Amino acid sequence: MSAPTAAWSADKPKAAGEATSTAKVASVDCAKVKCIALTFDDGPGKYADKLLDTLKKYKSKATFFLEGQYVKSRPAFAKRMVAEGHDIGNHSYTHPHLREISEDRIREELTKTQDLVKKVTGKYPTTIRPPYGEFDERVQAIATEMGMPIILWNGGSRDWATRNETAIYNEVLKNAKRDGVILMHDWVEQTVKVMPKLLVALQKQGYHVVAVSSLRGAKGVKAGDIYPVGSEKDQDLSSESPTGDPESYAESPADGL
Ligand SMILES: [Zn+2]
Repeated sequence: MSAPTAAWSADKPKAAGEATSTAKVASVDCAKVKCIALTFDDGPGKYADKLLDTLKKYKSKATFFLEGQYVKSRPAFAKRMVAEGHDIGNHSYTHPHLREISEDRIREELTKTQDLVKKVTGKYPTTIRPPYGEFDERVQAIATEMGMPIILWNGGSRDWATRNETAIYNEVLKNAKRDGVILMHDWVEQTVKVMPKLLVALQKQGYHVVAVSSLRGAKGVKAGDIYPVGSEKDQDLSSESPTGDPESYAESPADGL
């Protein structure tokens, strides 16, 4: 049994000693300004530290949907993500197709990741992004029970498929829109390499790059809800997400760390 998680709220009071770095950044009101959320799945990936350096340099926040097995292999990166004020979501422990496994296993995949992230970073993930964007009523019921909304996306980067900096840059700018949620991967080297250029371009277009919980409309999202609204029918989600274990065609998770 995992301890219950707090319902997702960007307004919840901070515990003493919690990520003071976030307090220094003036909060962005996405009702007043144009915001976009970049989200990174399957991590912490091998290049997460470089990505965190870039995000810090450009005063941007991201949302990381972490896989328990890689939190185990790269705890320092997970810790840094939380310390630097980024949002953390649960992307299961081993990245199975949740619709194809038993309810007990779904629960195990999610609670094991909750507990490990809490142990490593001091905080529970506050949202779920199911692997491949695939979920069913059972997943929704478990998300409700665990106090977490399900976060999908409404724009892809196809970074895992193209592995090309220019292609990733163009795809993200093509899909960028106010309050958009973009799917990317911090294990794709080209994504991390093109990020400074991409953040400059987004900021030039007037975007504030924020965590999902800061987006307009995200504050009213409740446990078990799907966000962004309508994202589940927006597109063929599976075509935007790698099929298979990403790290098996990336680098070994233990490589270098
Ligand atoms: Zn994934």
